[in-house]
Amino acid sequence: VLGQMMNKPMLISSIIEHADRYFGKNEIVSRRVEGDMHRYNYTQCHQRTKKLANALKKLQVQLGDRIATLAWNGYRHLEIYYAVSGSGAVLHTVNPRLHPEQISYIVNHAEDQYLFFDITFLPIIHAIAPLCPNVKAFVMMCDRDRMPTDGKIANLLCYEDLINDNNDDFVWPMFDENSASSLCYTSGTTGHPKGALYSHRSTILHSYASALPDGLNVSARDSILPVVPMFHVNAWGLPYSGPLTGAKLVFPGPHLDGKSLYELFEQEQVTFSAGVPTVWLGLLTYVGQNDLKFSSFKRTVIGGSACPPAMMKTLRHTYGVEVVHAWGMTEMSPLGTACTLLSRHNDLSEEEKEVILAKQGHVLYGVDMKIVDDAGKELPWDGKTYGNLLVKGPWIISSYFKGEGGNVLQDGWFPTGDVATIDVDGYMQITDRSKDVIKSGGEWIGTIDLENVAVSHPAVLQAACIGVFHPKWDERPLLLVVKKPGAELTKETLLEFFEGRVAKWWTPDDVVFIDALPMGATGKILKNKLREQFKDHRLP
Ligand code: ADP
Repeated sequence: VLGQMMNKPMLISSIIEHADRYFGKNEIVSRRVEGDMHRYNYTQCHQRTKKLANALKKLQVQLGDRIATLAWNGYRHLEIYYAVSGSGAVLHTVNPRLHPEQISYIVNHAEDQYLFFDITFLPIIHAIAPLCPNVKAFVMMCDRDRMPTDGKIANLLCYEDLINDNNDDFVWPMFDENSASSLCYTSGTTGHPKGALYSHRSTILHSYASALPDGLNVSARDSILPVVPMFHVNAWGLPYSGPLTGAKLVFPGPHLDGKSLYELFEQEQVTFSAGVPTVWLGLLTYVGQNDLKFSSFKRTVIGGSACPPAMMKTLRHTYGVEVVHAWGMTEMSPLGTACTLLSRHNDLSEEEKEVILAKQGHVLYGVDMKIVDDAGKELPWDGKTYGNLLVKGPWIISSYFKGEGGNVLQDGWFPTGDVATIDVDGYMQITDRSKDVIKSGGEWIGTIDLENVAVSHPAVLQAACIGVFHPKWDERPLLLVVKKPGAELTKETLLEFFEGRVAKWWTPDDVVFIDALPMGATGKILKNKLREQFKDHRLP
């Protein structure tokens, strides 16, 4: 027998409709590329979104067509999110920090029909327009008076004209919830980037799950500032889970430096934020140097790369901000795990709690995980044995867009490329990315642990550990360190600092101080670049 409940497809348009109807007066505040602040509410956002949907209809955008964006976190980007997916087209968010050659590759591979862009990115459009002949028009996200008049780009449209020339009389179409809704390409540190094609159903399920208290924990009482960009795995789903819960949204635009962020946090009484560890570095440096405190900021989710326990400690103890360590990847929409405690942990000491909270955490309902050895045999959950981490669930890809890379699943599980342990309580901890693990004399050394020790030294700002050739052990760890401005530190003192903090044979063989670490388009350290740069480094 079938159940007798309404069979309403789970569509992304229903989120913005819901936010308008039930949280209409709740605010969306944006620091604009133009420099000023913009404020409106969910009802006004929905009205403009419907105008844009009418504009897309006039432009003859069809179900399944890909529409690209090159844009910061802002209200216009949010309107495009809902107008495109809500119309049945596919939102393709492109990372503007990629090289123009990669951007044009992605735009052509996705067969994007239109490309919306923030005025900041006009130079990128100049570079890619001749390489992307199939894009019907480039839409500049600004008022008419800011539009260039030099005629350099033939097919250029003005965003505010599209809004002003249309009314908000629009009914969101109904279609299969398994239809594609949005497309994100992986960073492609090895080979060409590949697309993860999400569906309406996967996005809604991910939004529900990620909003849970042991996930991102968002509610109608929050003022959310997503620092993680909307061009990076949909800002971890916050543009969906925010309106779904009715939270206030605060968008920082292009201004991601410590000062601009701090001022926005205070001005908009932000309670919750999310981002990669490197953004918190900038914010904490600014707040520390100016002896400031946060008046409303309560909670942040940090992920994308391992959050050093030293950073969590500073946020918790100096600023009273709860840190939730989370793990995921583009192929997982992106959220897989988040780290929060069980009630049975209440009696543990602060140090014991911190050991657990440093892990990447527990899966959310919907995700299943296991660790396996190289032969695919499942390994025990003892918190010590590490293996390849595999996942499955309804918001995890089953194949890449256009079948790139062939069959990627392993007996129905997606191999994450991460190496991890899982403990008896199901808390997962990433040891390393499998390609970053250092193989020393047949044993593995995880670089995350070594980096965490290094950055807990007061003179260290950032650290990265890579394996370099060793005649006897094949590979040994080399530690690359960026010192804090003005700090004094020698190689010997830093290596002594490792004593008692890691197994002796894990201690790096050498330290090199450098001015900066190479960063990728999503704010992660580019270890393949470092390996290339230091491939001839001679260990002492
Ligand atoms: P995202 O775009 O969400 O950062 P990517 O697909 O670019 O995802 O990268 C995903 C990879 O980032 C993971 O496979 C893992 O190696 C790394 N990663 C993400 N979160 C964490 C974390 N909290 N700790 C350690 N590594 C992480």
